[in-house]
Amino acid sequence: MNWLSNVIRPRIRSLTGEQKDVPDNLWSKCPKCDGMLFHKELKASTNVCYHCHHHMALPVHDRLELLFDGGKFDKIDLPKVPHDPLKFKDQKKYVERLKASQTKTKEQDALMIAKGTIGGQNTVIAAFNFAFMGGSMGTAVGEGIVRAAKEAIDTKSALIIIPSSGGARMQEGMLSLMQMPRTIIAVDMVKEQSLPYIVLLTNPTTGGVSASFAMVGDIHIAEPGATIGFAGRRVIEETVRETLPDDFQTAEYLLDHGMVDMVVARDELSSKIGTVLNLLMNTSTNGGSSKGKKTNGSSSDTKRKKGKTKSKTSGTKASVKKASDVKKAPANATKTEPTKIAKTKSAKAAQ
Ligand SMILES: [Zn+2]
Repeated sequence: MNWLSNVIRPRIRSLTGEQKDVPDNLWSKCPKCDGMLFHKELKASTNVCYHCHHHMALPVHDRLELLFDGGKFDKIDLPKVPHDPLKFKDQKKYVERLKASQTKTKEQDALMIAKGTIGGQNTVIAAFNFAFMGGSMGTAVGEGIVRAAKEAIDTKSALIIIPSSGGARMQEGMLSLMQMPRTIIAVDMVKEQSLPYIVLLTNPTTGGVSASFAMVGDIHIAEPGATIGFAGRRVIEETVRETLPDDFQTAEYLLDHGMVDMVVARDELSSKIGTVLNLLMNTSTNGGSSKGKKTNGSSSDTKRKKGKTKSKTSGTKASVKKASDVKKAPANATKTEPTKIAKTKSAKAAQ
């Protein structure tokens, strides 16, 4: 019998009254301002510090709930890929690392694919899970992005990829690097169908992910303060032998230099993306949001009506095509507009 825990502790407790242990996880600390955050309030503010507005990591499932209309979405399973083709082992076997992450996150790999609607528009999202081996991109993630792109094409949906990743997965060597060109081809397939491809850059987007699909979106949206870059700050400083600005590789810095189109706070993300999708697609598969929108001029009105009737008979393709005729909402403007924005921005930066 342990005297300290079994006799003395209960007696002290009976003297001081019924005192329950306070769980440690009720409060957390903001890494930026050191402010104390109550877990319920933090959850309500979607992991954004309510003292200094610092955006902390958001679990991938919560993020999908936040973005999709009404928090509703259908999960799409990741395609099966051969695990550990190189039989890699560092301090631990790669298979063991994979299993540990799978148990921890209850997911197959570092990517989650889901479909639903945002702003009434059909959307497929492929979101990285940083909790799974730092969101690193291996064969499974690459295959998942190809799957998401195909799903977007098949269902005439917009594709949104949300990277949160340290880059390529070292344990898969060359095979993980091969996912860079593969994912580029995947998102190009979506663009060829005149469907919008949007990247939502979250903290962090680095390495092989930022060097591939993450930087070729039609529109780049970033969360405030997110680190976005290829090589780390120290490596660059040592290479160019210059001191870099404090805000180097942040979302705001990239916005000033034309690499990012918008920096949007987390609570406004869903509505902003919804607006962008409605502008780019300018059609609603369920007829909901296009009804509410006004078009200028009667001619475009009739065009729109024609498009609608067509879309009823021959699917969404017709309405997507028709949308490209209407001013301000060309589906293929997805290709030109961001570059235009980027150009004006970089011109500004040059001055
Ligand atoms: Zn804070």
